[in-house]
Amino acid sequence: MSITQNLNIIKNTLPEHVTLVAVSKTKPVSDIMEAYNAGQRIFGENKIQEMAEKYEQMPKDIEWHMIGHVQRNKVKYMASFVSLIHGVDNFKLLNEINKQALKHDRIINCLLQIKIAEEDSKFGMTAAEASNILQSETFSELKNINIVGLMGMATFTDNEQQIENEFKYLKTTFNELKKLNTENCKLNTISMGMSGDYELAIKCGSNMVRVGSSIFGSRNYI
Ligand SMILES: *Cc1c(COP(=O)(O)O)cnc(C)c1O
Repeated sequence: MSITQNLNIIKNTLPEHVTLVAVSKTKPVSDIMEAYNAGQRIFGENKIQEMAEKYEQMPKDIEWHMIGHVQRNKVKYMASFVSLIHGVDNFKLLNEINKQALKHDRIINCLLQIKIAEEDSKFGMTAAEASNILQSETFSELKNINIVGLMGMATFTDNEQQIENEFKYLKTTFNELKKLNTENCKLNTISMGMSGDYELAIKCGSNMVRVGSSIFGSRNYI
């Protein structure tokens, strides 16, 4: 099936309150353009350089989401245009995003990545770490970032019960942290669910799904 057909099928099954991030990592601009022409405006990439190159080549009404692990020294390459950074997992990174956002006179929206998977390979902070950061004095001074939600990745497993438990844990954490509601932290987004598990994620409270291979086909590498 074509990218357009895949996209339409997924869009038709998503509830209205759920935002679709089309994950275009490793895919050529021509593929992204097909999705764009089918109406998609939000794209997710996991490498900053690749995202910046695509940003240059694509129409400027696209919202680019950084969904991968972010190295501090590369924040500057996306600070002028990125619309949401999903994978923020430490304070030093937040500080750097704030600094680069200030240079561009922008406020950059971020999600805190919470570690919900068992695997060591997945990044993220604990709920307690997130809570401490959000309540700290130093955080309240970061005027050029906005924490708008949480992101999580479930364990790569066939055990659906485990995935469900991990998603539910993220939703519970979200409900807790949402109460903080400070000047630069107003949680409204839960980014969870990918091609294999987004329907389950939505049942567990997700309102932003990151779908790649079900739209663009499988990738040769990650
Ligand atoms: C690649 C990736 C996705 C999309 O994965 P698919 O299984 O292709 O839908 C979602 N989230 C993150 C963080 C990714 O790196």
